[in-house]
Amino acid sequence: MGQQSQSLLRHLPSVDQLLSSPQGHELVSVYGRSLTVEAVRATIDQTRQLILGEELTAVPEPVYFTQSAESWLADLIAPSLQPVINATGVIVHTNLGRAPLSQASLDAIQEVGQGYSNLEFDLESGQRGSRTTHPDIPLKQLLDAEASLVVNNNAAAVLLMLTALCQGKEVIISRGQLVEIGGGFRIPDVMAQSGAKIVEVGTTNRTHLYDYERAINENTGAILVAHHSNYKIIGFTSEPPLEELAKLAQSHQILLLYDQGSGALLDTTPFGIPSEVRVPEGLAAGCDIVAFSGDKLLGGPQAGIISGRGDLVQIIKKHPLARAVRADKFCLAGLTTTLGHYIKNEALTQIPVWRMISMPKDDIHALLTQWQHKLSKQGVQSEIDENVSTVGGGSLPGTSIDTWVLAINTNHPQKVANRLRSEKLSIISRIQDGRLLLDPRTVLPQHIEKLHQSLVHCTL
Ligand SMILES: *Cc1c(COP(=O)(O)O)cnc(C)c1O
Repeated sequence: MGQQSQSLLRHLPSVDQLLSSPQGHELVSVYGRSLTVEAVRATIDQTRQLILGEELTAVPEPVYFTQSAESWLADLIAPSLQPVINATGVIVHTNLGRAPLSQASLDAIQEVGQGYSNLEFDLESGQRGSRTTHPDIPLKQLLDAEASLVVNNNAAAVLLMLTALCQGKEVIISRGQLVEIGGGFRIPDVMAQSGAKIVEVGTTNRTHLYDYERAINENTGAILVAHHSNYKIIGFTSEPPLEELAKLAQSHQILLLYDQGSGALLDTTPFGIPSEVRVPEGLAAGCDIVAFSGDKLLGGPQAGIISGRGDLVQIIKKHPLARAVRADKFCLAGLTTTLGHYIKNEALTQIPVWRMISMPKDDIHALLTQWQHKLSKQGVQSEIDENVSTVGGGSLPGTSIDTWVLAINTNHPQKVANRLRSEKLSIISRIQDGRLLLDPRTVLPQHIEKLHQSLVHCTL
Protein backbone atom coordinates (compact mmCIF):
# COMPACT_ATOMS: atom_id res chain seq x y z
CA MET A 1 0.00 0.00 0.00
CA GLY A 2 1.31 3.39 -0.96
CA GLN A 3 2.13 6.10 1.53
CA GLN A 4 -0.59 8.29 0.13
CA SER A 5 -3.23 5.63 0.76
CA GLN A 6 -2.05 5.24 4.33
CA SER A 7 -2.36 8.90 5.05
CA LEU A 8 -5.79 9.01 3.38
CA LEU A 9 -7.00 6.16 5.58
CA ARG A 10 -6.00 8.12 8.66
CA HIS A 11 -8.25 10.93 7.49
CA LEU A 12 -11.38 8.83 7.10
CA PRO A 13 -14.13 10.19 9.38
CA SER A 14 -15.19 8.05 12.35
CA VAL A 15 -18.68 6.66 12.82
CA ASP A 16 -19.22 8.97 15.83
CA GLN A 17 -18.07 12.00 13.93
CA LEU A 18 -20.58 11.32 11.13
CA LEU A 19 -23.42 10.51 13.55
CA SER A 20 -22.96 13.76 15.40
CA SER A 21 -23.11 15.87 12.23
CA PRO A 22 -26.50 17.53 11.48
CA GLN A 23 -27.04 15.06 8.60
CA GLY A 24 -26.16 12.17 10.91
CA HIS A 25 -28.70 13.37 13.47
CA GLU A 26 -31.32 13.58 10.76
CA LEU A 27 -30.64 9.98 9.64
CA VAL A 28 -30.85 8.70 13.24
CA SER A 29 -34.17 10.46 13.72
CA VAL A 30 -35.61 8.77 10.60
CA TYR A 31 -34.02 5.32 10.64
CA GLY A 32 -33.03 4.86 14.29
CA ARG A 33 -29.57 4.54 15.73
CA SER A 34 -28.59 0.96 15.03
CA LEU A 35 -29.50 0.95 11.31
CA THR A 36 -27.82 4.31 10.81
CA VAL A 37 -24.64 3.07 12.47
CA GLU A 38 -24.67 0.08 10.15
CA ALA A 39 -25.18 2.29 7.11
CA VAL A 40 -22.48 4.78 8.05
CA ARG A 41 -20.07 1.97 8.78
CA ALA A 42 -20.81 0.40 5.41
CA THR A 43 -20.05 3.62 3.56
CA ILE A 44 -16.82 4.15 5.49
CA ASP A 45 -15.79 0.58 4.67
CA GLN A 46 -16.63 1.08 1.04
CA THR A 47 -14.54 4.23 0.88
CA ARG A 48 -11.67 2.43 2.63
CA GLN A 49 -11.76 -0.23 -0.10
CA LEU A 50 -11.65 2.44 -2.80
CA ILE A 51 -8.64 4.04 -1.14
CA LEU A 52 -6.87 0.70 -0.80
CA GLY A 53 -7.55 0.02 -4.46
CA GLU A 54 -6.07 3.42 -5.18
CA GLU A 55 -9.29 4.47 -6.87
CA LEU A 56 -9.60 7.52 -4.63
CA THR A 57 -6.95 10.17 -4.27
CA ALA A 58 -8.70 12.28 -1.63
CA VAL A 59 -11.02 11.59 1.29
CA PRO A 60 -14.52 12.82 0.40
CA GLU A 61 -16.34 15.43 2.49
CA PRO A 62 -18.41 14.13 5.45
CA VAL A 63 -21.68 14.88 3.61
CA TYR A 64 -20.65 12.35 0.98
CA PHE A 65 -20.69 9.66 3.68
CA THR A 66 -24.06 10.64 5.12
CA GLN A 67 -25.58 10.89 1.66
CA SER A 68 -24.30 7.44 0.72
CA ALA A 69 -25.59 6.12 4.03
CA GLU A 70 -28.98 7.61 3.26
CA SER A 71 -29.27 5.87 -0.10
CA TRP A 72 -28.00 2.64 1.47
CA LEU A 73 -30.82 2.91 4.04
CA ALA A 74 -33.45 3.80 1.43
CA ASP A 75 -32.44 0.75 -0.63
CA LEU A 76 -32.53 -1.44 2.44
CA ILE A 77 -36.14 -0.67 3.29
CA ALA A 78 -37.46 -0.36 -0.28
CA PRO A 79 -39.95 -3.16 -0.92
CA SER A 80 -38.16 -5.95 -2.73
CA LEU A 81 -41.47 -6.87 -4.35
CA GLN A 82 -41.72 -4.52 -7.29
CA PRO A 83 -43.39 -4.29 -10.69
CA VAL A 84 -41.65 -5.73 -13.75
CA ILE A 85 -42.43 -5.65 -17.47
CA ASN A 86 -43.28 -9.11 -18.76
CA ALA A 87 -42.08 -9.39 -22.35
CA THR A 88 -41.88 -13.20 -22.25
CA GLY A 89 -45.25 -13.87 -23.86
CA VAL A 90 -46.24 -16.16 -21.00
CA ILE A 91 -49.61 -14.70 -20.04
CA VAL A 92 -50.31 -16.26 -16.64
CA HIS A 93 -46.67 -16.22 -15.53
CA THR A 94 -46.57 -17.80 -12.07
CA ASN A 95 -43.14 -16.36 -11.24
CA LEU A 96 -44.20 -12.90 -12.35
CA GLY A 97 -47.34 -12.72 -10.24
CA ARG A 98 -49.86 -14.45 -12.54
CA ALA A 99 -52.81 -12.26 -13.55
CA PRO A 100 -52.53 -8.47 -13.89
CA LEU A 101 -55.83 -7.03 -12.60
CA SER A 102 -58.40 -4.93 -14.42
CA GLN A 103 -58.46 -1.22 -13.64
CA ALA A 104 -61.88 -1.54 -12.03
CA SER A 105 -60.63 -4.36 -9.78
CA LEU A 106 -57.66 -2.25 -8.72
CA ASP A 107 -59.94 0.69 -7.99
CA ALA A 108 -62.15 -1.53 -5.84
CA ILE A 109 -59.14 -2.79 -3.89
CA GLN A 110 -57.89 0.74 -3.35
CA GLU A 111 -61.26 1.96 -2.11
CA VAL A 112 -61.55 -0.86 0.38
CA GLY A 113 -57.94 -0.51 1.48
CA GLN A 114 -58.08 3.22 2.08
CA GLY A 115 -60.55 3.04 4.90
CA TYR A 116 -63.08 0.86 6.65
CA SER A 117 -65.53 -1.38 4.88
CA ASN A 118 -68.53 -3.59 5.61
CA LEU A 119 -66.28 -6.66 5.38
CA GLU A 120 -68.14 -8.43 8.19
CA PHE A 121 -70.93 -6.00 8.89
CA ASP A 122 -74.53 -6.14 7.69
CA LEU A 123 -75.43 -2.59 6.76
CA GLU A 124 -79.16 -3.35 6.76
CA SER A 125 -79.45 -4.76 10.26
CA GLY A 126 -76.43 -3.04 11.79
CA GLN A 127 -75.34 -6.46 13.06
CA ARG A 128 -72.29 -8.60 12.44
CA GLY A 129 -72.22 -9.90 8.87
CA SER A 130 -70.20 -12.47 6.95
CA ARG A 131 -67.28 -11.80 4.64
CA THR A 132 -68.15 -14.85 2.60
CA THR A 133 -71.32 -13.27 1.21
CA HIS A 134 -69.67 -10.53 -0.87
CA PRO A 135 -68.96 -12.50 -4.05
CA ASP A 136 -72.14 -14.62 -3.74
CA ILE A 137 -74.31 -12.84 -6.29
CA PRO A 138 -71.86 -12.76 -9.22
CA LEU A 139 -70.71 -16.32 -8.53
CA LYS A 140 -74.28 -17.61 -8.46
CA GLN A 141 -75.04 -15.75 -11.65
CA LEU A 142 -71.99 -17.01 -13.51
CA LEU A 143 -71.75 -20.58 -12.27
CA ASP A 144 -75.33 -21.56 -11.58
CA ALA A 145 -74.07 -23.14 -8.35
CA GLU A 146 -76.14 -23.36 -5.18
CA ALA A 147 -73.34 -21.88 -3.08
CA SER A 148 -69.70 -20.84 -3.19
CA LEU A 149 -66.88 -20.01 -0.81
CA VAL A 150 -63.81 -17.96 -1.66
CA VAL A 151 -60.57 -18.83 0.13
CA ASN A 152 -56.94 -17.73 -0.09
CA ASN A 153 -55.92 -19.81 -3.12
CA ASN A 154 -56.86 -22.96 -4.96
CA ALA A 155 -54.38 -25.16 -3.12
CA ALA A 156 -56.19 -24.13 0.07
CA ALA A 157 -59.55 -24.72 -1.61
CA VAL A 158 -58.61 -28.31 -2.51
CA LEU A 159 -57.15 -29.01 0.93
CA LEU A 160 -60.19 -27.55 2.67
CA MET A 161 -62.68 -29.35 0.44
CA LEU A 162 -61.00 -32.72 1.04
CA THR A 163 -60.49 -32.13 4.76
CA ALA A 164 -64.05 -31.02 5.40
CA LEU A 165 -65.74 -33.65 3.24
CA CYS A 166 -63.43 -36.67 3.12
CA GLN A 167 -61.28 -36.85 6.26
CA GLY A 168 -60.91 -40.48 7.28
CA LYS A 169 -62.59 -41.69 4.10
CA GLU A 170 -61.24 -43.14 0.90
CA VAL A 171 -60.92 -40.87 -2.10
CA ILE A 172 -60.51 -42.44 -5.52
CA ILE A 173 -58.28 -40.76 -8.08
CA SER A 174 -56.89 -41.79 -11.46
CA ARG A 175 -53.14 -42.47 -11.58
CA GLY A 176 -53.02 -40.11 -14.54
CA GLN A 177 -54.01 -37.24 -12.28
CA LEU A 178 -51.51 -37.66 -9.46
CA VAL A 179 -49.70 -34.58 -10.68
CA GLU A 180 -47.41 -31.97 -9.23
CA ILE A 181 -48.79 -28.58 -10.17
CA GLY A 182 -45.66 -26.61 -9.34
CA GLY A 183 -44.12 -24.98 -6.30
CA GLY A 184 -44.29 -28.36 -4.60
CA PHE A 185 -48.08 -28.64 -4.79
CA ARG A 186 -48.63 -32.34 -5.36
CA ILE A 187 -52.12 -33.74 -5.53
CA PRO A 188 -51.22 -36.92 -3.55
CA ASP A 189 -49.53 -34.85 -0.81
CA VAL A 190 -52.53 -32.57 -0.45
CA MET A 191 -54.84 -35.56 -0.31
CA ALA A 192 -52.70 -37.12 2.43
CA GLN A 193 -52.60 -33.83 4.33
CA SER A 194 -56.39 -33.68 4.35
CA GLY A 195 -56.62 -36.98 6.18
CA ALA A 196 -58.30 -38.69 3.24
CA LYS A 197 -57.01 -42.08 2.15
CA ILE A 198 -55.85 -42.09 -1.47
CA VAL A 199 -57.07 -44.94 -3.61
CA GLU A 200 -55.26 -44.89 -6.95
CA VAL A 201 -56.96 -46.45 -9.93
CA GLY A 202 -56.19 -47.02 -13.61
CA THR A 203 -52.85 -46.36 -15.26
CA THR A 204 -50.90 -43.24 -16.13
CA ASN A 205 -52.39 -42.99 -19.60
CA ARG A 206 -55.73 -44.75 -19.33
CA THR A 207 -58.34 -44.98 -16.62
CA HIS A 208 -61.78 -46.43 -17.29
CA LEU A 209 -65.11 -46.03 -15.59
CA TYR A 210 -64.90 -49.63 -14.36
CA ASP A 211 -61.59 -48.85 -12.64
CA TYR A 212 -63.41 -46.32 -10.49
CA GLU A 213 -66.42 -48.58 -10.01
CA ARG A 214 -64.34 -51.52 -8.75
CA ALA A 215 -62.63 -49.30 -6.16
CA ILE A 216 -65.85 -48.12 -4.54
CA ASN A 217 -66.63 -49.65 -1.15
CA GLU A 218 -68.38 -48.67 2.10
CA ASN A 219 -65.43 -46.47 3.13
CA THR A 220 -65.38 -44.46 -0.08
CA GLY A 221 -66.11 -40.78 0.41
CA ALA A 222 -65.52 -39.34 -3.02
CA ILE A 223 -64.02 -39.50 -6.47
CA LEU A 224 -61.56 -36.68 -7.07
CA VAL A 225 -60.87 -35.45 -10.58
CA ALA A 226 -57.85 -33.18 -10.88
CA HIS A 227 -57.08 -31.10 -13.95
CA HIS A 228 -53.72 -32.10 -15.42
CA SER A 229 -52.76 -28.42 -15.48
CA ASN A 230 -49.14 -28.13 -16.50
CA TYR A 231 -48.80 -31.59 -17.92
CA LYS A 232 -50.30 -33.45 -20.80
CA ILE A 233 -50.49 -37.08 -21.76
CA ILE A 234 -50.80 -37.57 -25.47
CA GLY A 235 -51.36 -40.62 -27.61
CA PHE A 236 -53.19 -43.67 -26.29
CA THR A 237 -55.10 -42.04 -23.47
CA SER A 238 -58.56 -42.01 -21.98
CA GLU A 239 -60.42 -40.80 -18.95
CA PRO A 240 -64.15 -41.12 -18.44
CA PRO A 241 -66.10 -37.89 -18.98
CA LEU A 242 -67.32 -36.04 -15.89
CA GLU A 243 -70.95 -36.90 -16.72
CA GLU A 244 -70.27 -40.63 -16.45
CA LEU A 245 -68.31 -40.21 -13.24
CA ALA A 246 -71.14 -38.11 -11.83
CA LYS A 247 -73.67 -40.86 -12.58
CA LEU A 248 -71.42 -43.45 -11.01
CA ALA A 249 -70.84 -41.34 -7.89
CA GLN A 250 -74.53 -40.62 -7.53
CA SER A 251 -75.57 -44.23 -7.84
CA HIS A 252 -73.16 -45.16 -5.03
CA GLN A 253 -73.99 -42.10 -2.94
CA ILE A 254 -70.46 -40.80 -2.95
CA LEU A 255 -69.25 -37.34 -3.96
CA LEU A 256 -67.65 -36.21 -7.21
CA LEU A 257 -65.12 -33.47 -6.49
CA TYR A 258 -63.37 -31.64 -9.30
CA ASP A 259 -60.16 -29.63 -8.99
CA GLN A 260 -60.65 -27.62 -12.17
CA GLY A 261 -57.55 -25.49 -11.61
CA SER A 262 -57.52 -22.69 -14.16
CA GLY A 263 -60.86 -21.04 -13.42
CA ALA A 264 -61.76 -20.72 -17.10
CA LEU A 265 -65.18 -19.16 -17.47
CA LEU A 266 -64.89 -18.38 -21.19
CA ASP A 267 -64.41 -20.59 -24.20
CA THR A 268 -60.80 -20.51 -25.38
CA THR A 269 -61.37 -22.12 -28.80
CA PRO A 270 -62.02 -18.83 -30.70
CA PHE A 271 -58.43 -17.93 -29.87
CA GLY A 272 -56.91 -21.12 -31.19
CA ILE A 273 -56.58 -22.76 -27.79
CA PRO A 274 -58.12 -26.22 -27.40
CA SER A 275 -61.25 -26.22 -25.30
CA GLU A 276 -61.19 -27.27 -21.71
CA VAL A 277 -63.98 -27.96 -19.27
CA ARG A 278 -65.10 -24.57 -18.00
CA VAL A 279 -66.21 -24.19 -14.39
CA PRO A 280 -69.96 -23.97 -15.15
CA GLU A 281 -69.71 -27.01 -17.43
CA GLY A 282 -68.06 -28.99 -14.64
CA LEU A 283 -70.94 -28.15 -12.34
CA ALA A 284 -73.54 -28.84 -15.02
CA ALA A 285 -71.91 -32.23 -15.66
CA GLY A 286 -72.89 -33.20 -12.13
CA CYS A 287 -69.81 -32.50 -10.00
CA ASP A 288 -70.84 -31.93 -6.40
CA ILE A 289 -68.04 -29.41 -5.82
CA VAL A 290 -65.67 -27.67 -8.20
CA ALA A 291 -62.54 -25.89 -6.91
CA PHE A 292 -60.58 -23.41 -9.04
CA SER A 293 -58.11 -20.53 -8.98
CA GLY A 294 -59.02 -16.85 -9.06
CA ASP A 295 -55.75 -15.74 -10.62
CA LYS A 296 -55.20 -18.07 -13.54
CA LEU A 297 -57.67 -17.85 -16.44
CA LEU A 298 -60.26 -16.12 -14.31
CA GLY A 299 -57.87 -13.19 -14.35
CA GLY A 300 -58.52 -11.92 -10.83
CA PRO A 301 -56.58 -11.70 -7.57
CA GLN A 302 -55.05 -14.74 -5.87
CA ALA A 303 -58.00 -16.78 -4.65
CA GLY A 304 -59.43 -20.25 -4.50
CA ILE A 305 -63.12 -20.71 -5.20
CA ILE A 306 -65.19 -23.64 -4.00
CA SER A 307 -68.58 -23.93 -5.70
CA GLY A 308 -71.35 -26.46 -5.80
CA ARG A 309 -73.97 -28.10 -3.62
CA GLY A 310 -75.28 -25.80 -0.90
CA ASP A 311 -75.24 -28.39 1.90
CA LEU A 312 -71.63 -29.31 1.17
CA VAL A 313 -70.47 -25.70 0.93
CA GLN A 314 -72.12 -25.15 4.34
CA ILE A 315 -70.08 -27.99 5.83
CA ILE A 316 -66.91 -26.59 4.27
CA LYS A 317 -67.62 -23.07 5.54
CA LYS A 318 -68.03 -24.34 9.10
CA HIS A 319 -64.79 -26.34 9.16
CA PRO A 320 -62.11 -24.73 11.39
CA LEU A 321 -59.62 -24.83 8.52
CA ALA A 322 -61.87 -22.43 6.58
CA ARG A 323 -60.92 -19.66 8.99
CA ALA A 324 -57.23 -20.40 8.51
CA VAL A 325 -57.44 -20.05 4.74
CA ARG A 326 -60.04 -17.29 4.47
CA ALA A 327 -59.80 -14.63 1.78
CA ASP A 328 -58.85 -11.09 2.76
CA LYS A 329 -60.75 -7.90 1.93
CA PHE A 330 -58.53 -7.02 -1.04
CA CYS A 331 -59.13 -10.40 -2.60
CA LEU A 332 -62.88 -10.19 -2.09
CA ALA A 333 -63.09 -6.67 -3.51
CA GLY A 334 -60.93 -7.46 -6.54
CA LEU A 335 -62.50 -10.82 -7.26
CA THR A 336 -66.07 -9.56 -7.07
CA THR A 337 -65.23 -6.75 -9.49
CA THR A 338 -63.44 -9.14 -11.87
CA LEU A 339 -66.49 -11.43 -11.85
CA GLY A 340 -68.62 -8.40 -12.71
CA HIS A 341 -66.73 -8.05 -16.01
CA TYR A 342 -67.95 -11.51 -17.03
CA ILE A 343 -71.52 -10.68 -16.12
CA LYS A 344 -71.38 -7.48 -18.15
CA ASN A 345 -69.87 -9.40 -21.04
CA GLU A 346 -66.78 -7.23 -21.08
CA ALA A 347 -64.18 -9.76 -19.92
CA LEU A 348 -62.35 -9.73 -23.27
CA THR A 349 -61.81 -5.99 -23.14
CA GLN A 350 -61.48 -5.35 -19.39
CA ILE A 351 -59.61 -8.33 -17.95
CA PRO A 352 -55.93 -8.16 -18.96
CA VAL A 353 -55.49 -11.94 -19.19
CA TRP A 354 -58.34 -12.18 -21.69
CA ARG A 355 -57.29 -9.05 -23.54
CA MET A 356 -53.91 -10.73 -24.07
CA ILE A 357 -55.35 -14.11 -25.05
CA SER A 358 -57.72 -12.51 -27.55
CA MET A 359 -55.27 -10.02 -29.07
CA PRO A 360 -55.36 -10.67 -32.85
CA LYS A 361 -52.08 -11.65 -34.44
CA ASP A 362 -52.45 -8.92 -37.08
CA ASP A 363 -52.78 -6.27 -34.38
CA ILE A 364 -49.57 -7.54 -32.82
CA HIS A 365 -47.78 -7.27 -36.14
CA ALA A 366 -49.06 -3.73 -36.61
CA LEU A 367 -47.89 -2.80 -33.12
CA LEU A 368 -44.47 -4.31 -33.73
CA THR A 369 -44.07 -2.41 -37.00
CA GLN A 370 -44.47 0.79 -34.99
CA TRP A 371 -42.03 -0.39 -32.33
CA GLN A 372 -39.48 -1.40 -34.93
CA HIS A 373 -39.71 1.93 -36.73
CA LYS A 374 -39.42 3.94 -33.55
CA LEU A 375 -36.51 1.93 -32.17
CA SER A 376 -34.65 1.98 -35.45
CA LYS A 377 -34.68 5.79 -35.41
CA GLN A 378 -32.93 5.58 -32.05
CA GLY A 379 -30.34 3.14 -33.29
CA VAL A 380 -31.85 -0.17 -32.15
CA GLN A 381 -32.24 -2.56 -35.07
CA SER A 382 -34.63 -5.49 -34.90
CA GLU A 383 -36.60 -8.02 -36.88
CA ILE A 384 -40.19 -9.15 -36.61
CA ASP A 385 -40.41 -12.93 -36.35
CA GLU A 386 -43.21 -15.42 -36.06
CA ASN A 387 -43.36 -17.17 -32.72
CA VAL A 388 -45.81 -18.33 -30.04
CA SER A 389 -47.15 -16.94 -26.80
CA THR A 390 -48.24 -19.36 -24.09
CA VAL A 391 -51.00 -19.19 -21.53
CA GLY A 392 -48.77 -20.51 -18.73
CA GLY A 393 -49.59 -20.63 -15.05
CA GLY A 394 -50.01 -24.35 -15.14
CA SER A 395 -53.13 -23.75 -17.19
CA LEU A 396 -53.65 -25.34 -20.57
CA PRO A 397 -50.52 -27.45 -21.02
CA GLY A 398 -48.88 -27.54 -24.39
CA THR A 399 -51.15 -24.88 -25.80
CA SER A 400 -49.81 -21.83 -27.51
CA ILE A 401 -51.11 -18.83 -29.37
CA ASP A 402 -49.51 -17.76 -32.65
CA THR A 403 -47.86 -14.41 -32.31
CA TRP A 404 -45.16 -12.08 -33.64
CA VAL A 405 -42.14 -11.12 -31.60
CA LEU A 406 -39.47 -8.47 -31.89
CA ALA A 407 -36.01 -10.00 -32.21
CA ILE A 408 -33.35 -7.46 -31.23
CA ASN A 409 -30.21 -7.45 -33.35
CA THR A 410 -27.38 -7.90 -30.91
CA ASN A 411 -24.29 -10.07 -30.66
CA HIS A 412 -24.74 -10.29 -26.90
CA PRO A 413 -28.33 -11.34 -26.25
CA GLN A 414 -27.63 -12.62 -22.74
CA LYS A 415 -25.83 -9.44 -21.75
CA VAL A 416 -28.65 -7.27 -23.04
CA ALA A 417 -31.22 -9.48 -21.29
CA ASN A 418 -29.30 -9.06 -18.02
CA ARG A 419 -29.18 -5.32 -18.48
CA LEU A 420 -32.88 -5.14 -19.23
CA ARG A 421 -33.53 -7.07 -16.05
CA SER A 422 -31.48 -4.69 -13.95
CA GLU A 423 -33.29 -1.58 -15.17
CA LYS A 424 -35.16 0.30 -12.46
CA LEU A 425 -38.37 -1.11 -13.89
CA SER A 426 -37.08 -4.59 -14.77
CA ILE A 427 -37.83 -6.05 -18.16
CA ILE A 428 -38.06 -9.81 -18.44
CA SER A 429 -37.33 -10.91 -21.99
CA ARG A 430 -36.88 -14.27 -23.66
CA ILE A 431 -33.81 -15.82 -25.24
CA GLN A 432 -34.47 -18.45 -27.85
CA ASP A 433 -31.94 -19.94 -30.27
CA GLY A 434 -29.44 -17.30 -29.24
CA ARG A 435 -31.80 -14.42 -29.99
CA LEU A 436 -33.27 -11.83 -27.66
CA LEU A 437 -37.05 -11.80 -28.13
CA LEU A 438 -39.79 -9.52 -26.88
CA ASP A 439 -43.41 -10.63 -27.10
CA PRO A 440 -45.70 -7.57 -27.03
CA ARG A 441 -48.73 -9.66 -26.09
CA THR A 442 -47.86 -9.54 -22.39
CA VAL A 443 -46.53 -5.97 -22.28
CA LEU A 444 -49.09 -3.63 -20.73
CA PRO A 445 -49.83 -0.50 -22.81
CA GLN A 446 -48.65 1.84 -20.05
CA HIS A 447 -45.21 0.17 -20.12
CA ILE A 448 -44.46 0.39 -23.84
CA GLU A 449 -42.73 3.77 -23.66
CA LYS A 450 -40.53 2.64 -20.79
CA LEU A 451 -39.70 -0.60 -22.60
CA HIS A 452 -38.49 1.36 -25.62
CA GLN A 453 -36.36 3.70 -23.53
CA SER A 454 -34.77 0.76 -21.77
CA LEU A 455 -34.09 -1.03 -25.05
CA VAL A 456 -32.24 2.02 -26.34
CA HIS A 457 -30.39 2.35 -23.06
CA CYS A 458 -29.44 -1.33 -22.78
CA THR A 459 -28.44 -2.15 -26.35
CA LEU A 460 -26.28 0.87 -27.15
C1 LIG B 1 -53.02 -24.16 -10.06
C2 LIG B 1 -53.68 -25.36 -9.56
C3 LIG B 1 -53.78 -25.61 -8.18
C4 LIG B 1 -53.21 -24.66 -7.18
O1 LIG B 1 -53.88 -23.44 -7.25
P1 LIG B 1 -53.24 -22.12 -6.59
O2 LIG B 1 -54.21 -21.05 -6.97
O3 LIG B 1 -51.90 -21.98 -7.20
O4 LIG B 1 -53.17 -22.35 -5.14
C5 LIG B 1 -54.40 -26.75 -7.78
N1 LIG B 1 -54.91 -27.63 -8.65
C6 LIG B 1 -54.84 -27.43 -10.00
C7 LIG B 1 -55.42 -28.45 -10.90
C8 LIG B 1 -54.22 -26.28 -10.49
O5 LIG B 1 -54.15 -26.09 -11.81
